[in-house]
Amino acid sequence: MKRGEKMKIEVSVLASGSSGNAIFISGGKTKILIDAGLSGKEIEKRLAKIGVYGDELDAIVVTHEHLDHIKGVGVLSRRYDLPVYANEPTWKGAEKQLGQIADKNCRFFKGDFMIGDLGISPFPVPHDANAPVGFIISCGNRRIGQATDMGYVTEEVEDCLKGLDFLVIESNHDLEMLMNGSYPWPLKKRIHGENGHLSNDDTADLLPRIIGDNFPRILLAHLSKDNNIPALAYITVKNSLEDHGFTIGKDLLLDIAYRDRPTELFKVG
Ligand SMILES: [Zn+2]
Ligand SMILES: [Zn+2]
Repeated sequence: MKRGEKMKIEVSVLASGSSGNAIFISGGKTKILIDAGLSGKEIEKRLAKIGVYGDELDAIVVTHEHLDHIKGVGVLSRRYDLPVYANEPTWKGAEKQLGQIADKNCRFFKGDFMIGDLGISPFPVPHDANAPVGFIISCGNRRIGQATDMGYVTEEVEDCLKGLDFLVIESNHDLEMLMNGSYPWPLKKRIHGENGHLSNDDTADLLPRIIGDNFPRILLAHLSKDNNIPALAYITVKNSLEDHGFTIGKDLLLDIAYRDRPTELFKVG
């Protein structure tokens, strides 16, 4: 496939949040998962809901070794003979949980790489794991971003996320709910800290700076069950966008990814 050539690209967030994360991306002839943080069985169930079967997958790409991102990776790799792509420190951190994975399916990335028709560009995110990353996935002239599990938005992250066609971005907690909630203080500090998670306000601040004029779809993701409410995340982001002159439905589309069910299979472009 040549750059710029029309290719069908589809995305569904199968699960999002501390109980498990997985994103299905299909571009051209290639189908991958970013993370597989539910049991293998549950991932298969959710894939089936969007009409995809495990044996159609080409690979799993891993952001970092936290269990909510890798729980089903080992099982799926063994069941469908799937290559798993992660950077070396993530492999080290994930080894025990993943179990035996065939040597040929252990793929290490450093910089950008290709899986079939998809270009994959990892970028570092500040989070309390060995070497956590987000990804830009490109297919033809379309670009999809995945950026969850980060304590704050670095300049590099902000540059990477500019002008994308589709973005899955963390909107983890409402700061007031977190601080007034029942979590123990060290956990509150961890979530709020530089290597924790983005708040609704963080994301609300970021989005007006990175949205281009290409009518992108933004999906708020990794929402906390205890320290957030989907409607609150949505309205916080919406208000900020409107303050900066953006209208949802005219300049962009805004949706929320769920913890307990897949989103629809969105068409990109
Ligand atoms: Zn996570
Ligand atoms: Zn994490």
